Amino acid sequence: MEFKQGDWVRIEKNGTVYEGKVMPSMEGYITIKMKSGYNAGFSIDKVRITLLENNGEAANGGNGGKNGVKEPETATENIYEPGKKLPKIAILSTGGTIASKIDYRTGAVSSQFTADDILAAIPELKKIADFKGRVISSILSENMDSDSWQNLARAVVEEIEAGADGIIITHGTDTMMYSAAALSFMIETSVPIVFVGSQRSADRPSSDNAMNAICAARVAISEIAEIVVVMHGTTSDDFCEIHRGTKVRKMHTSRRDAFKSVNSLPVGTVDYRTGEIKTFVDYIRRGEKSLKFKPGMEPKCALVKFTPGADPAVLDYYINNGYRGLVIEGTGLGHVSTKWIPFIRKAVDAKMPVIITSQCLNGRICDRVYDTGRDMLKAGAIEGEDTLPETSLVKLMWVLGQTDDFEKAVDMLRKDLSGEITECTCR
Ligand code: GLU
Repeated sequence: MEFKQGDWVRIEKNGTVYEGKVMPSMEGYITIKMKSGYNAGFSIDKVRITLLENNGEAANGGNGGKNGVKEPETATENIYEPGKKLPKIAILSTGGTIASKIDYRTGAVSSQFTADDILAAIPELKKIADFKGRVISSILSENMDSDSWQNLARAVVEEIEAGADGIIITHGTDTMMYSAAALSFMIETSVPIVFVGSQRSADRPSSDNAMNAICAARVAISEIAEIVVVMHGTTSDDFCEIHRGTKVRKMHTSRRDAFKSVNSLPVGTVDYRTGEIKTFVDYIRRGEKSLKFKPGMEPKCALVKFTPGADPAVLDYYINNGYRGLVIEGTGLGHVSTKWIPFIRKAVDAKMPVIITSQCLNGRICDRVYDTGRDMLKAGAIEGEDTLPETSLVKLMWVLGQTDDFEKAVDMLRKDLSGEITECTCR
């Protein structure tokens, strides 16, 4: 029997009947996605296949679902509805699980969906805004670098200049907080810029992609004109949290509520069912600031973790190889062993800013309590306050991308530039 990808078929095997949509399949096999969202694969010569609806007819009212989140008729619908007076959102896709499906050649999940595919797969989005899709990349976020951040930031700025009322960036979750921090330093925004991803690919019934994307769209048309991350707030499908791009961290490998604000409350929550947004902290409102783009990132910066007994000579590598700044993830209040202190001094003498952050993540650096801390300050280390180590690294890269002047860079690094340092009530 002839069938092609997207057809709706019935498969009979050993007296059991399966129905579903034909997925990309290996030669000699047929793989279908069933209504339950599960995929099933069969050897063609062992089953009886009946075509129920071909791809074209299914597009006009068939059943079944692409990626388990939509009925096939929406797959070919025009996602742009320019006649409607809905807010305009540009959705920029970079890759990651939210854009992933199983590659039937390798059996691995890989980023294959474009922004338009994501929009087509989640028809509810069309009720919220008029969307324009744009593909920035199709990569897993571990492959991002500072050039990727700048390209992304440039595209975001172009879309805002072209009239977008809000931006959604679909992104792999692993390094989403780095990209969100990078855009937070590079862009002063007049509209919401929302990062969203998913922990479970769209092929899986427990995928979080639809809820996260819908909540992200609610935030993109809201009053919160900041760079934020919107992801599941709990393991249930009840609400998403809105995290400031400089205060957020992925804190779990696989849970859907992996993202947490650290040293700050989330900016707010979005109710999945009602779309209601509740906010918990002050935020910059739509139109309060005008759009400014400040690109420039120095890639030669490193984040080094101190561990008991670690050889400080590791810092020599960076000092002797053209690195321009370091973030150290110290212990507790922000410590390294006394052996490391002369190496910190050496880096500072080489005009490399050295920022101290903490492996505790929660809490604030205070190097005034113990001897080692005081000696680190004397050696020229900068206390990272309550900034996350990753955010400190991105801040350092951005600051060194703005100035070659060491004193000026240190001065900028001590200040709160984009919500990364919360006010200290402890001193
Ligand atoms: N490691 C991949 C990435 O960060 C997949 C993880 C995800 O998107 O959740 O892009």
